[in-house]
Amino acid sequence: MQNYQDFLAETLIDPETLQQRVRELGAEISRDYADANGNLLLICILRGGVPFLVDLMRCIAVPHRIDFMAISSYGVGARESSGNVRLTMDLMTNIKDKHVLLVEDIIDSGRTIASVLELLGTRQPASLKVCALLDKESRREVEVPIHYRGFNIPDAYVFGYGLDIDEYYRNLPFIGVVDLEKYGK
Ligand code: 5GP
Repeated sequence: MQNYQDFLAETLIDPETLQQRVRELGAEISRDYADANGNLLLICILRGGVPFLVDLMRCIAVPHRIDFMAISSYGVGARESSGNVRLTMDLMTNIKDKHVLLVEDIIDSGRTIASVLELLGTRQPASLKVCALLDKESRREVEVPIHYRGFNIPDAYVFGYGLDIDEYYRNLPFIGVVDLEKYGK
């Protein structure tokens, strides 16, 4: 098991900057959903969105519920999504007439979030919005609405704060750039 210092090219977003932005997003969401009357549902896509959801929900001052779903994308390599998304764990909540806010770690090509939006849209939520911590805007292949965006980041493979490398390093409190050569894959 490699130590992350061995392949960390740079720290892109440090823990303080991350937490500050999460607080700002929480305040914005609290204002926008002030009249939701307890009907706000945060949906986290497992597993990358977990640390972001957990921090964000504690900065949201309006009553809300949370739920989780898991998907797997298939068709291409492990570090690229094809947009062929398969639901591997469905929500426990019926989202009909709820104000749904999808909480995502990162949007790259946009294909994953586009298929999740399409799927959830068929279930007649009262509203359906997206909150993404990171946006690799230059990589976009499919247009997707991002209502709340943490940071626009350059085209690099990042890890930490929920984002994995081969399922590890999600626990790190910062966002780092991987030196793929040094990582050895
Ligand atoms: P998209 O469908 O937008 O191309 O890809 C979104 C998914 O790809 C994210 O939910 C995440 O799982 C994965 N992903 C995209 N870029 C990165 C990255 O830089 N690092 C990590 N760890 N995962 C990424």
